[in-house]
Amino acid sequence: MKTELSEKLFAKANTLFPGGVNSPVRAFKGVGGGPRFIARGKGSRLFDVDGNAYLDYVGSWGPLILGHCNPEVMREVQDAMKSGASFGAPSPREIVLAELIRERMPWVEKMRFVSSGTEATTGAIRLARGFTGRDDLVKFDGCFHGAGDSVLVKAGSGVETLGLPDSPGVPADFAKHTLTLPYNDLAAAEALFAARGGTIAAVIVEPVVGNMGVLVPRPGFLEGIHALCRKHGALFIVDEVMTGFRLAMGGACDRLGLRPDLVTFGKVIGGGLPVGAFGGRAEVMDRIAPAGPVYQSGTLSGNPMAMGAGIATLRQLTPASYERLEAASARLAEGLAAAAREAGVPVQVNRVGSMLTVFFSEQPVFDAQSARGCDTKRFSRFFHAMLEAGVYLPPSQFEAAFVSLAHSDEDVEATLDAAKVAFRAALQG
Ligand SMILES: *Cc1c(COP(=O)(O)O)cnc(C)c1O
Repeated sequence: MKTELSEKLFAKANTLFPGGVNSPVRAFKGVGGGPRFIARGKGSRLFDVDGNAYLDYVGSWGPLILGHCNPEVMREVQDAMKSGASFGAPSPREIVLAELIRERMPWVEKMRFVSSGTEATTGAIRLARGFTGRDDLVKFDGCFHGAGDSVLVKAGSGVETLGLPDSPGVPADFAKHTLTLPYNDLAAAEALFAARGGTIAAVIVEPVVGNMGVLVPRPGFLEGIHALCRKHGALFIVDEVMTGFRLAMGGACDRLGLRPDLVTFGKVIGGGLPVGAFGGRAEVMDRIAPAGPVYQSGTLSGNPMAMGAGIATLRQLTPASYERLEAASARLAEGLAAAAREAGVPVQVNRVGSMLTVFFSEQPVFDAQSARGCDTKRFSRFFHAMLEAGVYLPPSQFEAAFVSLAHSDEDVEATLDAAKVAFRAALQG
């Protein structure tokens, strides 16, 4: 596979951007080698600057549930652009998208649009702190909630250990208010709440984890966390930036029967343009400025083109869409597990709906610690063999692959043919 032009551009990009990229995981650091520069996408496929085609299972890291260049999304965005790119004043498309969201999740009584998932979680966390008058936030090891200061913290050795900053630049005085727990461990959460429930403003969680690779919540885990929040007066924030409108018409919350106090969105609700949102109970949301004292703002929030892309995306997602995604994703997951078995490679294929990860592990993977036990060298060889065969997977063991409505049955079968060879390559070390 020819990669000359990508290499040339990456060399130039390295003189302009730290690490040559504008978001870290694009740099292929987790798998080695250099990234491909993408010229265009169409349906289920990406085309790089050297003219190589790939079946794309990254989908811009989640937003492109309809595939690349969906005609109706393009039409809506173009229509919006003709009337002006941004006004800094209310415009009607904000109402259309908000109503589409509230129709699907009626318990999201009020919401605020922002321009990224990071802004959504940052706003929701500030609101929870402002609403409860408490400072501490609980998150789970391995869950990613964007790049805000409060959430760039991982677990210490015990549940009561004060958080340490995961990133230089986050003051320890600030990080100490973020407490981390292992995912899927309700007993640990009960112990933490028993010890200091009165200081906890909120718990934030990925309902199905995508950002440690796919981790599936155990029955009762999320309900148990919500019950603890209720009992101790903390807010329950479900971060649906990745799962929202990907796992079901009503998001992971509907699929799992959750009714949190606050929910965050991003990715799919922007259809590939920069959008995020947070919302929930009106009583809580009305504490946001200008209705209330908790400040949050954004020059481009509710941007008409971004709203248009979200409107066109949600309108095309019907119950039949999710059935189609389920069937294609199940076939892919089963085929991948069978191909690995045939090649003699131990793997765990974790999947919920159209999110899936092949973990190179002999043991079940259900939290950050078990995920960290994976053979990442094997994953890297598998990744590169797939890439060479024209299948573009997330360049990290700890990310979810996404199936879109643009993936045909033939695409899935071609992916499985490539995987048969790639699993054998994964063993060659
Ligand atoms: C992607 C993601 C974010 C951050 O969204 P950005 O738009 O990248 O800022 C937050 N939470 C979850 C669960 C995500 O998957």
